[in-house]
Amino acid sequence: MSRFWSPVVHTLTPYVPGEQPRIEGLVKLNTNECPYGPSQAVLRAIAEASGEALRLYPDPQASALKAAAAQLHRLSPEQVFVGNGSDEVLAHVFMALLKHEAPLLLPDISYSFYPVYARLYGIETRQVALAEDFSLRVDDLLAAGRNGGIIFANPNAPTGMALPRAEIERLLQANRDSVVVVDEAYVDFGAESADVLVQHYPNVLVVCTLSKSRALAGLRVGYALGQAPLIEALTRVKDSFNSYPLDRLAIAGGVAALQDTVGFTQMRQRIMATRQRLSQALRQRGAQVLPSSANFVFARLPAWTGAALAAGLREHRVLVRHFAQPARIADFVRISIGTDAQIDTLLHALDALLQAPQ
Ligand code: PMP
Repeated sequence: MSRFWSPVVHTLTPYVPGEQPRIEGLVKLNTNECPYGPSQAVLRAIAEASGEALRLYPDPQASALKAAAAQLHRLSPEQVFVGNGSDEVLAHVFMALLKHEAPLLLPDISYSFYPVYARLYGIETRQVALAEDFSLRVDDLLAAGRNGGIIFANPNAPTGMALPRAEIERLLQANRDSVVVVDEAYVDFGAESADVLVQHYPNVLVVCTLSKSRALAGLRVGYALGQAPLIEALTRVKDSFNSYPLDRLAIAGGVAALQDTVGFTQMRQRIMATRQRLSQALRQRGAQVLPSSANFVFARLPAWTGAALAAGLREHRVLVRHFAQPARIADFVRISIGTDAQIDTLLHALDALLQAPQ
């Protein structure tokens, strides 16, 4: 605390990211990164961009990246906004589109960055409880009344459960007066994208990242898809912060990653196969595993708190994520899908824990 701080700083509760360990040799299954590196084509594109041209500012519009995203999603470049990871895109979304008189609706169990942005910008929120089985119900969102916007992750984080596209469309048909933001960070692992709804609904914004299914968390590339007026609002906010959010390496690597269909398809299939194996192995050990459409599973073991399980696994040098809040999920741990070898290590560690007296 300092008297030099702007008053708002005293009220901020920043997001606490998952541990990025400095020690070597830990099996890192805690922040949903891709366990496989980017393809050679992507690495080559980044290496080629890393030359004399770095003395020049990048393209402030990142036009090449917008064109690549537009092509992938069958939209036009005017319907794409790009940013430095989807966290930054989301920060701009909150300011540009979600600050209104009526409260912003969000699920009570959701990506924990959303309340942080809401507080930062002074946006009132109303939490909508997930159903007993942890699914998000469109009827519950609609029953929450007048709103200044709706945001949810699909698949949801940290549950991994997905809402069918038809349900999102039903929401859009019934909620036409505010923006509906669908955060699709994990959509490529088995859920249906809402990208095809962009042409039909002026109030849907789909947020995407290259950090998960495109294996580029370290490069920080995210984007949003929406009709031109929504994109224009985001661009106005971005230009008020930083006209060059994406550097030359990120633009080059991002373009190559979006065009790398073969590497992408192989990798996501591998991750989904490993997810199935892990879910089965956890269930065989008595765990409750929520049905996941993401690159992680959310699971609990009888007689274990999530905190104890995460701490026990850490002693075996395996990192998973545990959320103390809300209380309903305190017994769960979120396990990112790693390589098959990493998942074997996790299962050995789990067996050692389950056999040892608590
Ligand atoms: N949305 C959700 C739901 C996430 O879990 C994450 C990753 N923590 C992000 C957005 C942000 O991802 P990035 O900033 O790496 O694009």
